[in-house]
Parts: sequence; structure tokens; C-alpha cells
Amino acid sequence: MIVRFLAALALAASIAVPAQAAPDRRLVLVTLDGLHWTEVFRGADPERAADPAAVPFDEREAIRTAFIVPANKARALMPFLNDVVARQGVLLGDRDHGGCAAVGNAMWFSYPGYNEILTGKPDPAIVSNAHGLNRNVTFLEWLNRRPGFAGRVETVASWRVHRDILDVPKSGLSVNAGWEDAPARTPTEATIARLQAGSARIWPEVRLDTFTHAYALELLKRQKPKVLYVAYGETDDFAHDGRYDQVLWAAQRADRFLGELWAALQADPAYAGKTTLIVTTDHGRGTNGKDGWRHHGKPFAESNQVWIGAIGPDIAPGRQPGTCASSSQIAATALTALGVDWRAFDPAAGPPLAIQKP
Ligand SMILES: [Zn+2]
Repeated sequence: MIVRFLAALALAASIAVPAQAAPDRRLVLVTLDGLHWTEVFRGADPERAADPAAVPFDEREAIRTAFIVPANKARALMPFLNDVVARQGVLLGDRDHGGCAAVGNAMWFSYPGYNEILTGKPDPAIVSNAHGLNRNVTFLEWLNRRPGFAGRVETVASWRVHRDILDVPKSGLSVNAGWEDAPARTPTEATIARLQAGSARIWPEVRLDTFTHAYALELLKRQKPKVLYVAYGETDDFAHDGRYDQVLWAAQRADRFLGELWAALQADPAYAGKTTLIVTTDHGRGTNGKDGWRHHGKPFAESNQVWIGAIGPDIAPGRQPGTCASSSQIAATALTALGVDWRAFDPAAGPPLAIQKP
């Protein structure tokens, strides 16, 4: 009788009190294309900054003053990552101090890297940036089909190819990428579109990050997505161009953009205290020879080495996972931060990084 009574009580309790409701969580994922971990953790490379082949003569003094003279070169280049993310959250991949992060794919360039970040595992069939539409389902597409997230997942990217990686025709994701105009739904968006139309187009497929950033900030304000992916691009393209001065300015700007995104999130009740920011890169850069830094890919040593940062309500400050962090773990880490079961997305995806609060 008592057993039956208890069973009835338990049944009643399970009906009256359903599984504890997941807390309201938001996510902002940011990628900085091809920014090597050495710049993030060591700051500017003094030898390269003084190399006439990498920094034009008329820029050398400004670069020296901004990035080489300061006592803490990492903080001079990327203060938000080093002061805020590394202390209030985690910043993984500092190999000078026992850290480690790497891509799991064997290609070490962009499309395979973004595919790995967004799907949770490498796809050996992706061997070119001209791969075309991605047959894989990204966690953004998967979320966008779920109740509570549908229509609330947004992407703004500097690189046009993000449209392919996210397979816009199949996924139905909202993506603004490359030199594409944003729909001018607000006066600010109309202004951004006008400025972008008047800007120099250094690279046909990669717009300047300032426009990507301006759209992202406006999108946060106007649309209040639950998940926002922002992909900056300049750090990679300036390196391919051999312009280390421009790489440094671009990295510093990207760090400022991150700080502005974080400040905007904390100033908005829709996001404050419930948003996780994850920031990473799609690949590293070569370390072989004097010009290795300009390139990446299998022939370029150590360009599989990356870095990963995370900050948010469920991230344990300073926690280092015991093993080398992989880009394959970012999708599950992002879903976990949203309170979503990553195994339901893909049990074969890399598991979440062990950086959550207990
Ligand atoms: Zn590249």
C-alpha cells in the first residue's frame, strides 16, 4: 500500500513538476579567419614587424609604437581576448604555457575548418574552398529547425563562401556574406549598405570586416536572434597579401569588435548574463621559413594549430581541459552552452570542451 502510495506520489510529482526547465540561453559564435595563436598569446612578432618585406617603410614606426614597444605585447594587440576572455572565461591554445588547440581535419584551410567547427567533425571529402554547397548539416541549420530557435539563428560573414558552407538553399538559414547588401530594414542598415557600396573592394569575395561588424551589431539590436554567428575575414587575406602591418591592425580591430559585441550583449536585457560568446579561428599559419606566416595548409608546418576562447554564464573561468582542444568540439560546446543536448544533433560530433562550471 505504501509502495503504491509512493508510486502514485512519484507519478503525480512527475506530472506536476516536469523536468526542470532549461534556463534561457543565447549564443554568439565569432571566427577570425586564419589568425595564428602566436599573435593571440604573444602579440606581434618583433622580427616580422621590422621586416621591410612584411611592413612598408612608412608604417614601421606606427607598428613599432603600437605593438612592439608596449611591455605586454599580447595585451597591446588583443586586450579583450587577453584581459576579459582569458580571465572571466577561458582562452585555450597557448602552447607557450602548456595549452593546446588544433583542428581535426587534415587540410588546414578555411572550408574544411569552418565545416569542422560548424558540424562537429572533419569531412575528408572537403578538399577545396571551391567545394560548393555543403552536404553536411551544421549545428546552426539543425537549431534553426528546432522549436524555440526557428527563425532566430543569424549569420553575418565577411567571406562570400560562408553561404556555401552553410548551404543557404538547403538550410534556409539567414546569411549575409561577402559584399552582399543587408536588407535595409533600418536607417542604420541603409547607411551601412551605402558606405559598403562606396568602399574599395580589395578582395572580390571578402568584404572589409567593419561592414560585417556594423551589420552584426545592428542585427543584434533589430532582430535579437537567439544564436548569432559572426565571421570576420581580414586577418587571413592580409597575411596572404604579405602585409603584416595590416594583419596586426586587423587583429586589433577584430579584438575591439569582440569587445563591442560583448558590451552590446551585456547592455541588453535580452542577452545580459545569459549569453555565451565563443571565439575561434578556422586554421593557423605556417611556421616554416621566413614567409611561412603568409600561408597555411598541409605543406605549412603547424598551421593546424588554433586557439579557442569562451566566456559566459556557464563557463568556468580559467578552466583548462586536460586534453588538446579540438575545433571538432566547438559545435557540442556551443549547443551545451545553449542548454541543448548535443548528442541529439550528432552523437559522432566531438564532445563539449570540459570548460563548463561543475
Ligand atoms: Zn587563407
